[in-house]
Amino acid sequence: MGKRRPRARHGKNVKCQRCGRPEAVIRKYGLMLCRQCFREVARELGFEKYS
Ligand SMILES: [Zn+2]
Repeated sequence: MGKRRPRARHGKNVKCQRCGRPEAVIRKYGLMLCRQCFREVARELGFEKYS
């Protein structure tokens, strides 16, 4: 008996701060964003690596 809580795979419980996705969150430049949001934000910030 007991409740099972879904865990993040690596023990990290990180969500995208923009859309709330718990998947593929990138923590760079102090941001916590999923890949999609990171791309968009990176554009806004002027990064062109991910375009
Ligand atoms: Zn996102």
